[in-house]
Amino acid sequence: MSLLITGGTGYIGSHTVVELQTLVSEQTPSQDIIIVDDLSNSSTVVLDRVKQITNKTVTFIKADVCDYNAINAIFDQYDIDAVIHFAGHKAVGESNEKPLSYYHNNVSGTVTLLQVMAEHNVKKLVFSSSATVYGDNVSPLNESMPTSATNPYGQTKLMVEHILFDLAKSDSEWSIACLRYFNPIGAHSSGLIGENPNGIPNNLLPYVAQVAVGRLAQLQVFGDDYDTVDGTGVRDYIHVVDLAQGHVKALQNLDKISGCKAINLGTGNGTSVLEIVNTFKEISGQDIPYKIAPRRAGDLATVYANADLANELLGWQATRNLYTMIEDTWRWQSENPQGF
Ligand code: NAD
Ligand code: UDP
Repeated sequence: MSLLITGGTGYIGSHTVVELQTLVSEQTPSQDIIIVDDLSNSSTVVLDRVKQITNKTVTFIKADVCDYNAINAIFDQYDIDAVIHFAGHKAVGESNEKPLSYYHNNVSGTVTLLQVMAEHNVKKLVFSSSATVYGDNVSPLNESMPTSATNPYGQTKLMVEHILFDLAKSDSEWSIACLRYFNPIGAHSSGLIGENPNGIPNNLLPYVAQVAVGRLAQLQVFGDDYDTVDGTGVRDYIHVVDLAQGHVKALQNLDKISGCKAINLGTGNGTSVLEIVNTFKEISGQDIPYKIAPRRAGDLATVYANADLANELLGWQATRNLYTMIEDTWRWQSENPQGF
């Protein structure tokens, strides 16, 4: 039996592959792992690094999930029984500029994958959704709240969620975990894999890390007049290894999920931008120059999870604190200043 991981050389995918190869083999007979990635936002160096960490190899196939024939050939060749689907574009700003590329890749790509899965009678799926689908609900955010989206990226996640719910309604054999991630940060404790954004980072942590390592001059803090502890935006940062372990748990518990279930993966805690900057400064020993800038369009003051359902359903909760998240981010960034 094999497990297919789309987008498996990306940030969250690579950490999940490592956890699958360690945790799963300790607990249950291990499955062969097949990664499919088009390398549009990652590199094959990741595969060498994963091998260095786990001492195991994975099968890698360079393919685009939008390519029906390529994906169909993979399902014909391997005895796949479940899929974790990470592949997709993820930059909110870019999605405003290139909406068609986002709808094509994230929505059509997922539909193509689902078609091939259905044709091969593979009906177990773990999908990467996002807390962005909560729109402007007031935190703590729980899975029964109404969903909405404010940009094309968020729309793609929401559309795929709707497709997955409809699919599971139409055929009771599907088991789908729709994991709504909060803000993944951190890196593997080995310092060998981590987040490696192309160009200037959009997200806070890679930006701060690149300021600390001297690649960028100064952070802009988007707004200091929110109704929060110090006026800066509050988010629920979650260690990428905790998130990866959430995928292992989801996979192990798919049998308990009938139909499609949305599940938050967050810590339930909120941290402000300035708290991040100050903790990063303390851990790295580096100066992190910043200036207060206007609010970023579309940002909310406070976003954090109610993480109870993941605990009840999957027996999962995040265990790594902010200190570890930033320590691991800094190890990765300082040991790999230019990324992979
Ligand atoms: P990432 O860009 O590091 O990884 C995604 C991987 O998918 C990359 O390796 C990329 O090359 C690949 N890919 C993209 N389009 C593809 C296609 N058509 N066919 C094959 N491979 C393709 O991103 P990540 O941070 O690891 O995110 C993984 C998933 O989680 C994405 O779906 C993202 O939207 C979602 N997500 C991420 C965050 C976050 O903050 N990182 C938050 C919520 C949800
Ligand atoms: N942020 C910031 N400067 C940056 C990037 C982000 O002040 O260069 C703030 C942003 O306004 C938000 C928080 O950091 O309050 C997290 O932003 P990120 O883009 O990482 O995640 P998201 O907003 O998507 O949750």
